[in-house]
Amino acid sequence: MDPSPLTVLHDVFGYPEFRGPQGAIVEHVVAGGDALVLMPTGGGKSLCYQIPALCRPGVAVVVSPLIALMQDQVAALEQLGVRAAALNSALPPGEARATERALAEGVLDLLYVAPERLVTDDFLERLDHTHLALFAIDEAHCVSQWGHDFRPEYRRLDILGTRYPKVPRLALTATADGPTRSDIVERLDLSRAKRFVAGFDRPNIRYTVVMKDNARAQLKHFLSEGRRGQSGIVYCLTRKRVNEIAAWLASEGWTALPYHAGLEPEVRSQNQERFIREDGVVIVATIAFGMGIDKPDVRFVAHLDLPRSLEAYYQETGRAGRDGLPAEAWCAYGGQDASRHRQLIQISDSPEEQKRIENQKLSTLLGYCETTRCRRQVLLEYFDETLAEPCGNCDTCLTPVDSFDGTVEAQKALSCVYRTGQRFGAAHVIDVLVGNANERAERLRHDQLPTFGVGADHSVKAWRSYIRQLVALRLLEVDVEGHGGLRLGPEAEVRPVLRGERNVEFRLDPATKRQPREKKRQSATASVIQNPADEALFQALREARMELARAQGVPPYVIFHDATLVEIAVRRPGGLQDLADIPGIGAAKLERYGAAILEVVAHGVGA
Ligand code: ADP
Ligand code: ZN
Repeated sequence: MDPSPLTVLHDVFGYPEFRGPQGAIVEHVVAGGDALVLMPTGGGKSLCYQIPALCRPGVAVVVSPLIALMQDQVAALEQLGVRAAALNSALPPGEARATERALAEGVLDLLYVAPERLVTDDFLERLDHTHLALFAIDEAHCVSQWGHDFRPEYRRLDILGTRYPKVPRLALTATADGPTRSDIVERLDLSRAKRFVAGFDRPNIRYTVVMKDNARAQLKHFLSEGRRGQSGIVYCLTRKRVNEIAAWLASEGWTALPYHAGLEPEVRSQNQERFIREDGVVIVATIAFGMGIDKPDVRFVAHLDLPRSLEAYYQETGRAGRDGLPAEAWCAYGGQDASRHRQLIQISDSPEEQKRIENQKLSTLLGYCETTRCRRQVLLEYFDETLAEPCGNCDTCLTPVDSFDGTVEAQKALSCVYRTGQRFGAAHVIDVLVGNANERAERLRHDQLPTFGVGADHSVKAWRSYIRQLVALRLLEVDVEGHGGLRLGPEAEVRPVLRGERNVEFRLDPATKRQPREKKRQSATASVIQNPADEALFQALREARMELARAQGVPPYVIFHDATLVEIAVRRPGGLQDLADIPGIGAAKLERYGAAILEVVAHGVGA
């Protein structure tokens, strides 16, 4: 008889209970149903197909876009005593043949394959003769061109439904915006699949946005807040900047490695491997890095340049803190980044419709950066969720921003843009506002306008910030087809402001006022572990884990997660029975590592 989902959850994975909708999803799929699963990164998507794979007879075929992801998952499953394998182009032919044989013999529980491999005639013929438990399509947003990781091969996966109508299919993704969602349903023929949407909140991630002033100094300050020894990702916009920042951080004594598409493939995969396998590596990367990196103990994700959209940002920051321990999402944002992005959208070859969507997405992102509200509330609203109360774990909640009623200032700026003909950039508009009678203003006779000098009571720097905020509020628009001139936003938005029917709140840029120093925080785990003796045991356990990982050539976290080690350090189990009660320790791990762990708890490392 096949085991029950709960038995598998306890005995194989060592977890006491399902998280969120996991239980319902597993039950539905075990019973043979199709499912579309939308869950944030770190929400626990893998169990949704891994448990049914073990509860249903036959092999589960998992489509996964990235080799690194497959390898990690297979290594982690092997640690649990699950019979898993992967087929991809990186395998030596001998190994691939062995896996194909195992498939034919029916001795596999899970098989990970790349989409292009799956849809080959050869592979499909093999599947025709295989007892299939289910198909899982991971990172299903790759099917959509609206998503940010479009993979044309995913389009051909529609064959699964027609060729194997009786085999349950699950599509899983963390990207949940409307167009992507309907694309997935349509392209993968999942209109009859049951939908499961988990809450998108990641409460353990702290969101912070700083106004870019001196990006390096700001990053350095952020990193200096007890982040030595932690794993993290620093995202930059260009390869050049990645190289510079990685070199600079290395010179500052960090284990910092670059990652971008322009590096030699060997260097790139070496750097990625080190990030995965060592503790405390900071990877400096373009957005080419990250998808498929399942490292659960990434403690921070820092954006030194503006991300592309709010959903890309959420996806990228979601890589922090999958293990549920405290983690940081930090972003430095400046008005120049925004104009650069606008230009990039404009000069791209995309059709107009797509450019329009991208511009809209950029504005949403700017709205997030400029908000005076709880950042998590803004983020979740974007994913159609509401968070009733401010979160208490983002910068605006922790250090409320100073803001003021800037309705009059907004009116002045809007009318100045209007009267100067809606074609000049911020610099000239500000010259007119503050009454800077330079050559251009005189030549254009803008020094004769009634708005000339009406904003002299604010500095140029302050006006720059207000104009940026007006753009973020969509009261002003940047004319991207022309030369980046400012024009008024949609009339429905602008008119109530000009009539004084709608107030505009401006934030005071923290760059211009002194930031109250936040209490220095120690490593993110330290806020969970309270006393130094436990912290010392935690570090000893990490060392022991590293040795075990090195000996087997696997990443440390496939042996135990930090969360499991924290729990061991705090609870100090005295015997195997106590150890088995710790989340993350199933039967296989208890047998393999139980004695070694108890030894460390009793005597410290190497004793
Ligand atoms: P996703 O693929 O959605 O990003 P994962 O499947 O990698 O998320 O799971 C994220 C982390 O949460 C993993 O470390 C996993 O072991 C852990 N996890 C998942 N489900 C549970 C559960 N029911 N109880 C405890 N930990 C869980
Ligand atoms: Zn908040």
